[in-house]
Amino acid sequence: MAVGILALQGAFAEHAAVLDRLGVPHFEIRQKRDLEQPMDRLILPGGESTVMRKLLGELDLFEPLRQRIADGMPVFGTCAGLILLAKQVDGGTPCFATMDISVKRNAYGRQLGSFRTAQTFGKLGTLPMTFIRAPYIAAVHGDAQILASADGNIVAAQQDKQLVTAFHPELDESTAIHEYFLQIQ
Ligand code: GLN
Repeated sequence: MAVGILALQGAFAEHAAVLDRLGVPHFEIRQKRDLEQPMDRLILPGGESTVMRKLLGELDLFEPLRQRIADGMPVFGTCAGLILLAKQVDGGTPCFATMDISVKRNAYGRQLGSFRTAQTFGKLGTLPMTFIRAPYIAAVHGDAQILASADGNIVAAQQDKQLVTAFHPELDESTAIHEYFLQIQ
């Protein structure tokens, strides 16, 4: 198995560090050439979704990645990565638009958007959650399922092989959510 991590900007190195801890091979996606190697899964990290969307277009990465996601490659989007997958973006522009969720960018206000909590995540029990200028999921539609909420807002969801969190599991000790992603078939 090899996991491609979009590495244009943002918190890609932190995802790589988690995969190292789990002993899972991974590589960085910085240009189209990087997509020539075998890739089984994709991680879209946190960062600034507007910048990532622009670079994805300029580097000709948008369409090949969108196609793979649409074809069913498992994908894990954290924070900005979540925004990139959403079909509806309040305060921004949709990018891949493969997931039936509506998200609100910078949903907590620029300063209040950074906080930590611990909440139930699907069947995995209570897990730490670190939010940084976070979005939240205003609504799930169609086949998208809610996996976690915090303070009444949806903060994690899954639709088939697409997994998203509004928070940053790669910044916490627990590797449970990455392990969960890696077993999605
Ligand atoms: N506010 C950022 C955006 O809209 C997301 C923040 C993050 O990824 N930590 O892209």
